[in-house]
Parts: sequence; C-alpha cells; structure tokens
Amino acid sequence: MARDHGFHPIRIKRIIQETADTRTYVLDAPFDYQAGQFLTFKVCGTLRSYSMSSSPATDPELTTTVKRVPGGLVSNWMHDNLSPGDLLEATPPAGVFCLRETSAPLVAFSGGSGITPVLSLVKTALAATDRRVRLLTADRDGDSIIFEATLAQLAERYPGRLEVRHHLDSLAGFLTEARVKEFAADARDADFYICGPEPFMDLVERALLAQGADPGQLFIERFGSGDDGAPGEETEGTVTIVLSGKTHTVPQHSGETLLQSARRAGLAPPFSCEAGNCATCIAQVTEGRAQMKINNALDEDEVADGWVLTCQGEPATPHLTVVYED
Ligand SMILES: Cc1cc2nc3c(=O)[nH]c(=O)nc-3n(C[C@H](O)[C@H](O)[C@H](O)COP(=O)(O)OP(=O)(O)OC[C@H]3O[C@@H](n4cnc5c(N)ncnc54)[C@H](O)[C@@H]3O)c2cc1C
Repeated sequence: MARDHGFHPIRIKRIIQETADTRTYVLDAPFDYQAGQFLTFKVCGTLRSYSMSSSPATDPELTTTVKRVPGGLVSNWMHDNLSPGDLLEATPPAGVFCLRETSAPLVAFSGGSGITPVLSLVKTALAATDRRVRLLTADRDGDSIIFEATLAQLAERYPGRLEVRHHLDSLAGFLTEARVKEFAADARDADFYICGPEPFMDLVERALLAQGADPGQLFIERFGSGDDGAPGEETEGTVTIVLSGKTHTVPQHSGETLLQSARRAGLAPPFSCEAGNCATCIAQVTEGRAQMKINNALDEDEVADGWVLTCQGEPATPHLTVVYED
C-alpha cells in the first residue's frame, strides 16, 4: 500500500501579514516534517502546494507562507477568504528539497516567495548543525522582502555562521550571473539551495554550474507547474484511466505522460508540482507497465506494487490501465 496521501483537516490558528501581498498561516497540523517540505492543500476544488516556513527544529508551530500571484486562483482566494479558526484540507508533508547529512556550508538563493522553504532550511541548519550558512534573497524592492526581521534576528543570533544579502531589483536590476558567482566564489564545497521564479532559478543554476559546481551539489525547488508541451504522435496502444470509479480509454500518444493522457480524456486528475516530487498525482498501474522519467517520491516497494507518479510515468507497454485512489 502506498503511504498516506489522503487529506487531513487542518485548522488555521493565526494569520500573520508579512508584506502587502504575503501572509503566513499558523496551522494546527498534526504532522512531522522535514525542513524544506510542503503541504498540498485542496482549495476551491483544486490542489496547490505551499512549503513550510517554520523549522521542525526550532518552531513549535507549523507555518506556511503564501504570496499572492497576480491573477492566481488559490493564493488570492486564501488571502481574501481565510480567517483564524477556518478549516483547510491538506495532504501530509512531502518533498525532497531537504537538508542532507553533511558539514559542508549551505549557500541558498531565494527569489520572492521562494524564501519560504529556504527559511525553514536555514533555521534548521543553524539550530541543528554547525554548518555555515549564506543566503542571498532577491526581491523587487525593500517593501517586498519577506521575513526581513526574522533573518536579521537570525544573523544577530548566529554571528559568523549566517550571512544574509538582500538583492533588490529596484536598486540593482535583476540578479546577474556575475553576482551569483561572486556570492558563491569561496564556497565551492557548499550545498546550494535554489527556490524562486523559473528564470531566477535558471540563472543561478547556470552560474553555479559554470563556476564548476557539481550538479549533485544543487538542490532546486520548482514552484511553477510543468508545461504539457506539444502532443506526440498517436500510436497503436491505449491508456485506460480509472478515476472516481469511471473508466476512460484513449489512444496512446508517444512521449505523453499518464497525467497528460488523463487530461486529454477530459478528466481532472490530481496533480501539483508536475516535477516528480510531491506524489499528489499518484495512481496505480493495474495492467501493463509505466516508466517514470523522474521519481523523487516513491520507494522501490511502491514502484514494485505498480504505484506511479502520473506526471512522470509514460506507458512502457502497448496497453496500460492506471487507477487513481478515490
Ligand atoms: C512544491 C511547491 C511548493 C510551493 N511553495 C509555495 C510557497 O511556500 N509559497 C507560495 O506562495 N507559493 C508556493 N508554491 C506555488 C503555489 O503552489 C501556487 O502555484 C501559487 O500560489 C499560484 O497559485 P494560484 O492558484 O494563486 O495561481 P494560478 O491560478 O495557478 O495561476 C498562476 C499564474 O498563471 C496565470 N494563469 C492562470 N490561468 C491562466 C490562463 N488560463 N491563461 C493564462 N494565464 C493563466 C495566472 O495569472 C497566474 O499568473 C509552491 C509550489 C510548489 C509546486
């Protein structure tokens, strides 16, 4: 049987206004979690993931921090409608944007709301290890910096172990590769954590790799959802999808994931990160086989039992049946 991917009721204890467009939700959530992980909430009939901004090592309460996305459905609904005492539904913590056992320095780059999991990682590394930590946050302007006071307090509390640099677009334009390299120049043995808008993450990744970092030193959390891309050629095979007790069969398209096939069948299956990390899109292959491109969520036993991340699984047999849990 797969691990618990079910939804749990979670009460909002308090709401903290961090900046004009960012709020922290203090949650009564009965979960153990690792720094850097996230919860997936069911809101407005859809699913969105939000990372913990709290640290399991230092914070008695679990918090998530949500920034409004212009035109975005869930982030704006949460800001406009939620009050202390309200109930939300969320799956247990998931994700692999976590600390590993090492004494290497931690160098982090966050852009905007990307600070959320990064703050959790930074607080945890400072409290639970002797590692040195260096953080570059990038924000539009001074008013947009999330957790500015918290970071200043941490830097005071851990002198010599934490260095925080705030990059502001309003003063210096977008971050450049040269600045990333300069920031990381004397930390070549570090583990690098990156979370922020897609172009920001691409820039930081490119700069670090160009400077000789090994891809294994880079930990990247992607907030955006994937692009379905152009449909592949139709093939002889079929994909049968069982969702909410109903069965739908569509022709296989080459290079198409099971999630894409389900959408093409007109279904609205669960998904969140679309990067093989969160397991929100999990289902079980009961006939045929699927091959995952990326699997950062399921263990060997689960894969042997036919469980698949449908955002990453492609058919490996001409006919395949995949069943979503109710
Ligand atoms: C693992 C993970 C962790 C995350 N952690 C956090 C976190 O800690 N804090 C945080 O704030 N966010 C986090 N996110 C991002 C979050 O899950 C949401 O993606 C984000 O809040 C936007 O959701 P939304 O429903 O408000 O916007 P959506 O409705 O999904 O819209 C997103 C964007 O798409 C545009 N759009 C929507 N529909 C259309 C359309 N039909 N045509 C063109 N454009 C369209 C919108 O204008 C908007 O710009 C995380 C994401 C992941 C995957």
